Amino acid sequence: MTTTSKDTVVLQNYINGRWVDSRGSVTLDVENPATKGCLAKVPISTKEDVEEAVKAAKSAFQSWRNVPVPKRARIMYEYHHLLTERHEELAKLIVLENGKAYKEAYGEVQRGLECVEFAAGTPTLMMGETLANIAEEIDSSMYRYPLGVVGGITPFNFPMMVPLWMFPLAVACGNTFVLKPSERTPLLANRLVELFSQAGAPDGVLNIVHGAHDVVNGLLDHEDVKAISFVGSQPVAKYVYERSAANGKRVQALSGAKNHHVVMPDCDIEKAAQHILTSAFGSAGQRCMACSAVVVVGDNDKFVEELRVKADALSIGNGMDEEVLLTPVIRESHREKVVGFIKQGVAEGASLLRDGRKEMEDLTEGNYLGPTIFDHVTPDMTIAKEEIFAPVLSLLRASDLDEALSHIEKSRFGNGATIYTKDAKAVRQFREEADAGMIGVNVGVPATMAFFPFSGWKDSFYGDLHVNGKDGLNFYTRKKMITSRFDF
Ligand code: NAD
Repeated sequence: MTTTSKDTVVLQNYINGRWVDSRGSVTLDVENPATKGCLAKVPISTKEDVEEAVKAAKSAFQSWRNVPVPKRARIMYEYHHLLTERHEELAKLIVLENGKAYKEAYGEVQRGLECVEFAAGTPTLMMGETLANIAEEIDSSMYRYPLGVVGGITPFNFPMMVPLWMFPLAVACGNTFVLKPSERTPLLANRLVELFSQAGAPDGVLNIVHGAHDVVNGLLDHEDVKAISFVGSQPVAKYVYERSAANGKRVQALSGAKNHHVVMPDCDIEKAAQHILTSAFGSAGQRCMACSAVVVVGDNDKFVEELRVKADALSIGNGMDEEVLLTPVIRESHREKVVGFIKQGVAEGASLLRDGRKEMEDLTEGNYLGPTIFDHVTPDMTIAKEEIFAPVLSLLRASDLDEALSHIEKSRFGNGATIYTKDAKAVRQFREEADAGMIGVNVGVPATMAFFPFSGWKDSFYGDLHVNGKDGLNFYTRKKMITSRFDF
């Protein structure tokens, strides 16, 4: 790493096993969202930096693809060991650059570890299939091979888990990787690559190029990049999907969300309110599986009041403080955008049950916004349609489950949806009819684990094969079929 005159660290790229300065002359501040203090500067790298990284990854691929699969898997075991030893250090780094609460960050590290565990299973996962006697004296078999260089582009909200959705499995399958982390949370990515190299990954197998859209475009347009894994906001996901596909690449682009939680009249009100509160306001609502819309079925004002009382009692502050649940949003500019949504909600006629802007005035050090709840929101309002990605929750009303399901169907997003009920019939109907890819039954954040696909639908995902699970394996490998005749 290099330092500026004021001793602020300027992060470097990691290419071919070495830390190198970016060719770019522009840097951005990496801010601590809880203090607005500058943690480091991140370079806005150029297409030439991408070129160098892809060249290194392409060259490393020639030998890495032939490393026996169990040997590649053993590096994942060692990586898992190194990450586990540093579980607390990594969690603290997440809190520092992302702002989320330490407990959430600790959980994120755990989720990342599970991806490495899954990747360590490649000797089994990569097995092909055979069938003897497809015709007389003829057998057929299928082998899996890596693709080549894969590009990964990640968001700010899970600086550990999302990169680990990608490169451990891609690399264990024999690919090499160029990662472009979020420019808002680049510190953890550098630590991840450092430890990956320590675990035994050869030079050039995992490279990092910091920056913004120029680096992204460099990856999307490069003919030696065979596949793109992207996670981020909806407009960018769509753009990445279209541009990668136009360039003939395999692409998976995970996108934005608006997750509905349906509160049935028979549910345990206290528990449902608690789960919704944690889901909507934990990580400052900046989770793609956060609850951002609640559909209250029936005349359940008791639930609404319970939610308001609980929101009033929420602890707000720096994520390093163990008691805190609601932490700051990532940047002041994002908070301003969110305040715009709150004003629009009021203007469009939703009733503001709890206004989080008052905490903004009390907590001036970081990018804080208190829990904000709108009631009597209708599906056509902007706050019901758009992903706000902040501690702002919309309550919609429905007379029965059918109407609640139709509210969900109207959303263009389809990442997750949850129902709170004890009624088995309602659960079954919800499972069958809710128009989203990850369903929760009395679960606040129904995010899937590493061995299942992260299965967003509609505008929450562009592509065919999701990250993780067998989808992830299929995404990072291509199949070769062998047909052999033995009476020759
Ligand atoms: P973002 O779209 O702003 O950034 C994501 C990545 O794209 C970053 O690396 C960024 O540098 C790059 N990027 C941004 N604008 C670009 C442009 N114009 N051209 C090319 N590249 C560009 O997203 P974010 O704010 O970092 O992350 C939050 C978003 O990610 C939310 O919408 C959230 O729902 C989504 N997300 C989705 C999932 C999922 O599984 N579906 C998971 C995590 C986050």
